[in-house]
Amino acid sequence: MTAKFNTTNPATGEVLKEFPTASDEEISAVIDASDAAFQTWRTTDVRERSSPLARAADLMDERRWDLAELLTLEMGKLRAEAEAEVELAARILRYYSEEGPLLLSDEVLAPSSGGSAVMKYEPIGPILGVMPWNFPYYQVVRLAAPNLVAGNTIILKHASNCPQSALAFEQVMNDAQLPSDCYRNVFADNDQIQTIIADERVRGASLTGSEGAGAAVAGAAGHNLKKSILELGGSDPFIVLDSADLDATVTAAVKGRMTNSGQSCIASKRLIVLEEHYREFVDLLTAKMSQFVAGDPRDSATTMAPLSSEQAAQDLMEQVQDAIDHGAEVHTGGHRVDRPGAFVEPTVLTGVTEQMRAYSEELFGPVAVVYSVADEDEAVALANDSSFGLGGTVVSDDIEKAQRVADRIDTGMVWINQATWTEPDLPFGGTKRSGVGRELGAEGIREFVNKKLIRTP
Ligand code: NDP
Repeated sequence: MTAKFNTTNPATGEVLKEFPTASDEEISAVIDASDAAFQTWRTTDVRERSSPLARAADLMDERRWDLAELLTLEMGKLRAEAEAEVELAARILRYYSEEGPLLLSDEVLAPSSGGSAVMKYEPIGPILGVMPWNFPYYQVVRLAAPNLVAGNTIILKHASNCPQSALAFEQVMNDAQLPSDCYRNVFADNDQIQTIIADERVRGASLTGSEGAGAAVAGAAGHNLKKSILELGGSDPFIVLDSADLDATVTAAVKGRMTNSGQSCIASKRLIVLEEHYREFVDLLTAKMSQFVAGDPRDSATTMAPLSSEQAAQDLMEQVQDAIDHGAEVHTGGHRVDRPGAFVEPTVLTGVTEQMRAYSEELFGPVAVVYSVADEDEAVALANDSSFGLGGTVVSDDIEKAQRVADRIDTGMVWINQATWTEPDLPFGGTKRSGVGRELGAEGIREFVNKKLIRTP
């Protein structure tokens, strides 16, 4: 039987490397070490805490080729996208190295009854991160960079299908001379995750992944009276109100839907188009989605990578088939690609109704659903008719109109005239079933801190 932690090339299905799950004794030793490291790290000057991150950023830049290669090997990411992820992770490390101390500066309050008060942001202890495979460096850095500057230590449990990326990132942190044990990777199973969360010394947990995994981690954290941050799924609307350049708008929608082969929580999954543009939009979208070339993700001619695993491809095909069985129209795609590996054709569906799984479930792959709506109100109602609330896009040549519509969308983030994405200094996170809390930005760096009030008469 293949070990739980393994590298399986999704472009071929070949198991390349296996890693043993940690023993309970090893997990216990990691918690001891992380807590011991915290006792020194918490009192280390914040400027000193930030400098290893700058070195880590430089190392990621230097090792970009090798780090990207691992992403392509383990989860099938296109080479260019893999290199872009390494660059993004380096940018985040650099940003928190430079700006993190400022974001943690004391905040002076002005009590209405006189005197003075100050709010300090103090570290709280080891934090557990449970991370997914879709952006193996970015997701980790998003948690680790702000928290290390804040003075917390990190115990990182990565997805079982990207163990080499997990180890490569730990190596970067060690080589950047982060003091030992401030960042530890663990190959833990679900029971051991519960044990880590239950340990009194571990002060919080952050998970990015599915609702089920989020509920397991947040449940354990809640049971142990600890904070958790969750970044779960999404079914982001991409609303087209009007566009003088519909071709460019469709190109943006395709990018929003197809980045990372569609395996992104913030992908533009529901394309909601006002009826006067609908026909042309569907035609342009179908043409652009038909142009992808499936192949080896290491080959620069390939524009369509496999999904992360055979299971992921099968799950997505079940959702597509369910829509087809219930009467959805397929404009392009709708099948597996005729070659070995976890490939699914880029697919455009219309006529999706509430009875179909594709209406309410997240489609984690290259499948776009397009809806026609009569007006702005109908667009907003459809966008909000989802249990998710992560990101979204509003397209209009009238920016004020787009901003007004953005105000009515029930999500954590709305981007105007571009697909939702991420930037090192902007808060990231959702509402409804898409998650709890924020990562990145001032909000993110202040999630796992003791906001300590000092009141002076
Ligand atoms: P999972 O949620 O299963 O995996 C994410 C992480 O959670 C992994 O490290 C996984 O560990 C861990 N995990 C899973 N179950 C538990 C549990 N009970 N207790 C503690 N940790 C757990 O995602 P999948 O890979 O199965 O993907 C399924 C779906 O999740 C996708 O189709 C998508 O909808 C959503 N997803 C969303 C992501 C996002 O960016 N928001 C990212 C990935 C997935 P292990 O790998 O060892 O099982």
